[in-house]
Amino acid sequence: MRPASFNRSYPLLTFLALAIQLLSGLTTLRAATGDSQASSSSGEEVRWNPALPREWVAWNVRRKPFRLLGPIHYVGPAGVSSFLITTEAGHILLDTGFAATPPILRENITALGFKLTDIRYILSSHAHVDHVGGHALMKRWTGATVVASQADAALLASGGTNDYSGQELAVMGYPPIVADRVVRDGDTVTLGGVTLTCHLTPGHTRGCTSWTMEVADEGKTRHVLFFGSTTVLPGVRLVGNAQYPEIAEDLTRTYRTLLSLPCDVFLAPHASFFDLASRAERLAGAPGVNPFVDREFPRSFLASAEQRFLEQLARERTAAAK
Ligand SMILES: [Zn+2]
Repeated sequence: MRPASFNRSYPLLTFLALAIQLLSGLTTLRAATGDSQASSSSGEEVRWNPALPREWVAWNVRRKPFRLLGPIHYVGPAGVSSFLITTEAGHILLDTGFAATPPILRENITALGFKLTDIRYILSSHAHVDHVGGHALMKRWTGATVVASQADAALLASGGTNDYSGQELAVMGYPPIVADRVVRDGDTVTLGGVTLTCHLTPGHTRGCTSWTMEVADEGKTRHVLFFGSTTVLPGVRLVGNAQYPEIAEDLTRTYRTLLSLPCDVFLAPHASFFDLASRAERLAGAPGVNPFVDREFPRSFLASAEQRFLEQLARERTAAAK
């Protein structure tokens, strides 16, 4: 769906999103026993959506939070990242996991000695169910300003239902949220001496956003890249995609953008993308040498991701020419 037509169909999509939540809520009530669920200690029930793939349950298991580099803390569960960037003037939260993730975020943020009510901004990598599902509840708990790119703001407002990828709506849907601030390429979010710069990296979602910041570490300036994602989801076509005709051009430009950014520290919305578990273990075992500082890794990660993209594009072009 194009953003232009989205405006006209927005009330319908919002209704659809709310109906899906209601339906999945009813299903949850019937199928609650035995399924993985997180409940908030304040009595607010936060349940795992049983329509989500079984293998995603492990992504939402709590893991120990830790200070990653400078003001950047990892506060997410084991598989889907959330980063808390702390300053004297308040904090910035990047990504909120699934709708069932906020109790984990609250526990982790509190365990590190920070207050939820000090969170001033909520940012996102891209507006899919596993990264912004918790936005609505985190907004309620913190009163923070929700920041998103224009296209991801449209996806957020639809509760994940106006995504082009054609995945099942019962899986992709999440509590809708209206962005308070829309950012364009090059815009910044500044708080307490920390500046995050927005880089539009469309393709995985139309509004997929990568963020950069600089961190002073051991007398050096470390360039941190919060990668937004470039994954081409199963079933998504790069050639002749009626829902997203410019997807191949967008991804081509996105790889140029990402590879042009200086990067000493590569962080990503999925823990597996940047070897979170093994690097965290090494960080705890050898203070002083930060294993998240790794200049080679982003180049090789992005080069092999781009290679897979180009191979799929070539295959589809060959098939289309026949
Ligand atoms: Zn995604």
